[in-house]
Amino acid sequence: MVFQNLIGGRERPASDGMTLDVFSPVDGSLFARIAAGTPQDIDEAVAAARTALDGAWGRLTATERGRLLMKLATLIEARADELALLESRDNGKPLRQSRADAIALARYFEFYGSAADKLHGDVIPYLNTHFVGVERVPHGVTGHIVPWNYPMQIFGRSVGAALAAGNATVVKPAEDASLTILRVSALAREAGLPDGALNVVTGLGRTAGAALAGHPGIDFLSFTGSPETGTAVQIAAAKNHVGVTLELGGKSAQLVFDDADLERALPTLVSAIIQNGGQTCSAGSRLLIQRGIFQDVVDAVAERFRTLRAGHPEREPDLGPMINQAQQRRVMGYLERGRNEGLSIVAEGVVCLDAPPGGYYVAPALLAPVPHDSILSQEEVFGPVLVATPFEDEAEAIRLANGTPYGLAAGVWTRDAMRAPRVARAMRAGQVFVNCYGAGGGIELPFGGFGRSGHGREKGFEGLIEFTTTRTLVVAHG
Ligand code: NAD
Repeated sequence: MVFQNLIGGRERPASDGMTLDVFSPVDGSLFARIAAGTPQDIDEAVAAARTALDGAWGRLTATERGRLLMKLATLIEARADELALLESRDNGKPLRQSRADAIALARYFEFYGSAADKLHGDVIPYLNTHFVGVERVPHGVTGHIVPWNYPMQIFGRSVGAALAAGNATVVKPAEDASLTILRVSALAREAGLPDGALNVVTGLGRTAGAALAGHPGIDFLSFTGSPETGTAVQIAAAKNHVGVTLELGGKSAQLVFDDADLERALPTLVSAIIQNGGQTCSAGSRLLIQRGIFQDVVDAVAERFRTLRAGHPEREPDLGPMINQAQQRRVMGYLERGRNEGLSIVAEGVVCLDAPPGGYYVAPALLAPVPHDSILSQEEVFGPVLVATPFEDEAEAIRLANGTPYGLAAGVWTRDAMRAPRVARAMRAGQVFVNCYGAGGGIELPFGGFGRSGHGREKGFEGLIEFTTTRTLVVAHG
């Protein structure tokens, strides 16, 4: 099966006809091809977006735009099972996670569709002889570079917001997970989205991605991916003097104080790292535990880790395979480095015996105690690897939690009503959860990072604002 680009409402092969093979991480089999998009395809997609903006798409009222997005939400929801199957095949995530992603995608279009005509500006008191209004306007043509770990959700949160705000969009999905984005973009046409409002060019980051990041016809960029690529994208955007949101990696900590409700905490401490095989930017990948309960919590988490099963996404495993062989090797490499540092793996899950042999499966691992300056405490593994580190008191807990270059999310577990907000507000993180973590995806909740985790916010109303700029109108009347 060959999946084509979507440019100006038409499915088209790459300008030079080249394709990329798509291998399933489930069993390593070749099961599809995507267009290997070229800089010329990006040129044409940007031109198509500009035409839409100056034409049928740009002429719609905010209410009309919103209705189209809500119609798309309904179509996505109706196809959730089909999208989930395709995602699990393409990306390897367990079917229930793929389905949750499809439902979240529908919800993004519903949320942003219904917000389209509630986005309004301000009136500013100025001279008595002048009226001043501040209008919220779209940037124009926006570029969206999407990673492979949550293709549907990340597409939804950024493209949904951009379209609701009235931008025309060009999307570059990750080469390892493009298929659901292409399917949903076809549904957008079915929903009646005017041609060119949403264009998708698949292909390699260094060709199609770089061409989009540096394209002079782009007015704003949204990038989600690794810090290294984020730097390259921001440099490219700077050369064209356009803004960019960067949603990058994380090394998020969960702080477990000795008065925490452990029964409540334990399942979440495990699921926060196991979800999507740990390939989640906001994964709770560090456990900081108060010393008095350190061993007990490690033992309880270890017990749960030993029951975890990595396996075929359609057989209800706890986690599926890693996205590709490079990612599998990266995770194994980190574990090897941990062993070389003298760290001990205190518990491991299993790779199911019936997991297809060609797939990229990794058994989850819990390491403890892990010093704060260990590579495993400082670097994002992006796999099912959890490290536990003891702390003495609140001050040390805060210091360790904030002691990496990242700052994406944090969890605070305590029954002390004064300590909970005090510690939560000391976190250098874009999202902080108290006695919970992840809060169910949080379409409505602004999300983004500090430091190496990036800047700008997506999700929620804040995410919609990011895809607008302002025009100040000064009218003299006396
Ligand atoms: P990546 O940076 O390799 O790729 C992300 C996207 O950028 C892909 O579409 C890729 O093709 C493209 N790309 C690659 N090189 C490019 C270039 N030179 N110019 C323009 N585009 C280019 O990241 P990945 O491996 O797909 O994703 C994993 C990383 O993403 C992790 O670090 C993870 O934490 C991060 N991530 C962050 C969030 C968040 O919201 N903060 C969400 C998901 C993933």
